Amino acid sequence: MAQPRILILGAPGAGKGTQSQKITDEFDVDHVTTGDALRANKDMDISDMDTEYDTPREYMDRGELVPDEVVNAIVDEALSAADGFVLDGYPRNLEQAEELDEMTDLDVVLYLDVSEEELVHRLTGRRIDPETGEIYHVEYNPPEDPDVEARLEQRDDDTEETVRERLRVFRENTEPVIDHYDEQGDLERIDGEQAPDEVWADVKATIEDAA
Ligand code: AMP
Repeated sequence: MAQPRILILGAPGAGKGTQSQKITDEFDVDHVTTGDALRANKDMDISDMDTEYDTPREYMDRGELVPDEVVNAIVDEALSAADGFVLDGYPRNLEQAEELDEMTDLDVVLYLDVSEEELVHRLTGRRIDPETGEIYHVEYNPPEDPDVEARLEQRDDDTEETVRERLRVFRENTEPVIDHYDEQGDLERIDGEQAPDEVWADVKATIEDAA
């Protein structure tokens, strides 16, 4: 296979970002992630798109989905520029999945399976180093350096209330996407509750098998 075109699905906190980073390094593909793209453009004016709110921030801080029109354009542009990719955070609903079917053919669809209880624990404890972008967890993976610990930040949408809403939105909108790929027989289910290195071993082997 040329550079692989990989889709990674999973709830918020399932480990898509961590595994996507490893995929990027190992398989030399672009990391296309709507969450990061939107965070970098949170205050972009989208009022001309006839949306309920005028910026992505207002959707994101509530844990709601940003309108399809906005994210479809981001993904379409990023995928046309990529020679192989791992797509993370998209599609989040069936309409986006249909849009993606029109944009590209996928070589592998991975699903990181993690229980809801574990997801809440992971997300509310997640902290980010604003200087390096490195992700830590207050309990599972605290930084050793006290200077790093002192500057850690929590994502605006990792508070318990917003986390619950994001997981509700996931169940309602994104679980049908998982069923969609499952019914097509394309879904590679991976136990996302294993240690990150074990998850990575499964992810890597699955991608290599698809080659
Ligand atoms: P993430 O970093 O993937 O958890 O995304 C953070 C937030 O960005 C989500 O809660 C949504 O508000 C927004 N977002 C990211 N990807 C999408 C998408 N594919 N469709 C709609 N909203 C999205």
